Amino acid sequence: MLAPSPAGFRRLLPLLKPYRRQLWAGGACMLVFVACWPLLAWLAGQLIPAIGAGDVAKVLQVVGLALAVFMLQKIAQFGQDTLLAGPALQVSQDLRRQLFARLQRLEFGALEKLSAGDLTYRLTEDADRVGEVIYKTIQDSTPCLLQLVAVFGYMVWLDWRLSLGTMVLAPLVAVLVSLFGARVMGAAERSQKQVSELAALLGEAIAGLPLVRAFAAEPWLQARFETEIDLHRQARFRTQRLLALQYPVVGFIEAAGILAVLLMGAARIQSNDLNSAGFSSYVAALLMLIDPISHLTTNFNEFQQGQASLRRLRAIEAEPIEPPDQPGARALGAVQGELVLDQVVYGYDPQNPVLHGLNLRIQPGQVVALVGPSGAGKSTLFSLLLRFNIAQQGRVLLDGQDLVELRAADLRRAIALVPQQSNVFSGTVAEAIAFGRDVSLDQIRRAARLANADGFIESLPGGYQARVEERGSNFSGGQLQRLAIARAVLGDPAVLLLDEATSALDAESEAAVQQGLEQAMAGRTVLVIAHRLATVQEADRILVLDGGRLIDQGTHDQLIGRPGRYRDLCERQLIRGGGSR
Ligand code: ADP
Repeated sequence: MLAPSPAGFRRLLPLLKPYRRQLWAGGACMLVFVACWPLLAWLAGQLIPAIGAGDVAKVLQVVGLALAVFMLQKIAQFGQDTLLAGPALQVSQDLRRQLFARLQRLEFGALEKLSAGDLTYRLTEDADRVGEVIYKTIQDSTPCLLQLVAVFGYMVWLDWRLSLGTMVLAPLVAVLVSLFGARVMGAAERSQKQVSELAALLGEAIAGLPLVRAFAAEPWLQARFETEIDLHRQARFRTQRLLALQYPVVGFIEAAGILAVLLMGAARIQSNDLNSAGFSSYVAALLMLIDPISHLTTNFNEFQQGQASLRRLRAIEAEPIEPPDQPGARALGAVQGELVLDQVVYGYDPQNPVLHGLNLRIQPGQVVALVGPSGAGKSTLFSLLLRFNIAQQGRVLLDGQDLVELRAADLRRAIALVPQQSNVFSGTVAEAIAFGRDVSLDQIRRAARLANADGFIESLPGGYQARVEERGSNFSGGQLQRLAIARAVLGDPAVLLLDEATSALDAESEAAVQQGLEQAMAGRTVLVIAHRLATVQEADRILVLDGGRLIDQGTHDQLIGRPGRYRDLCERQLIRGGGSR
């Protein structure tokens, strides 16, 4: 099961295609580099007897030649390394790019299943390791392999009988290497899983640090962390121990092999089958095998660890992605903003629906508030309207057109989301509002004015060019909400989906956000997951959702006047400001 299979890496080969010319040039340098080895072995065979005989003139001549060959070889090596480094690094970059593109298209269900820490680890550490293997394979393993072939070929040419003896030792080494390799691979996979669990825990811990402190739960978290790092250490130690055992074993076999070859060589000279120059060249060549073998051994281990990493990267590719637009998906023209849900049934697990046959018609320009206890299905409804998920039964229509028949990009231009957590990306304020759309500063300004954000943005040092830090940490909650509103209205969507923040802002920010919202909502169809009394009071219609069913609807005055779920929600303060009737 853990047997090394290069198939994973072989599938990366097409990525090398665009760099063919550079690879050819690097390959040519590699051939020169490799061809110099047997030449040097031959020179060694000339040199050693000349030294023994004290023939200084010959020694000088050979040394001069060897120097020239060395120089040629090192120049070729430089060419090989620089020419091949580019493609090798490009391939690992291409791999990372492909994976990130895949990540962006993953179904949300799949995304939730893989934790953020785990994904980050895969796209950084695992991708690095795979990149390193690609790099080493191209730049180190390939010349080493060729060197083995060239040098051993020369040895066979010198004395094939002696080479036969040498060759008996090679499989022994190979068997040992692969035997240990398989075990190292298993240990490496386990240890990488631990590292990734550590990253996941760290991600969770850092995000939850204030909470941990508030609950005085530091000793608990510390203990949990310590357990995790201990498991991590144990897994790493198992890998290290195997590596530690592998090198001496392989090294000893090599040494014993060389001594055996010397013994055999002496016999060959004694029987006059080989002269001393030939044997000197043979031994020099033999020594030239050690370095590439040791490189190949190391690289083989890394290759196997890389295999585990590659498998973890490939696992991302196995996750389902958002279904592409239907062939012939219709472009969306001018949108009025009429929304219809027709007998919609949806469950994250299809066996277990969370929306049970929902029927709904929202006229263009209507403001509709969605209320209901947590878990009622409000966010799920939003995810269907944005086509993050697709109803298993029934239809969702925008201006009479089934969402599944529209192009996703068009749909999401027509329907904009203001999420509960503002989630503004870092960059400049203008970039945070534009969010990748190709718009002028004027358009951004107009959106910001509509969201009642223009005033505070202008007062920032740098104005629209002021920086938003990661997670918007240098802005207040109310400011971030207004940036998120500006971001949503920038594309002038016909439909606005608002998920109101559950936590209250101070009165002043609340008023500023409220004003932004009112301006942003004007002339659009609005569906709002409401938590504030002001919102429900001003809505044209309130829909009360419970357990994935529409259980009541009407205006605030109608609903509050009769006992039922809505009045309960107001009394239980799930609609803020509604408790004091
Ligand atoms: P609300 O927004 O009203 O609080 P949701 O739409 O988030 O409710 O949830 C409706 C139901 O769907 C709940 O039972 C919830 O547990 C379930 N649910 C929500 N998101 C997922 C998800 N990604 N995978 C599986 N079940 C989910």
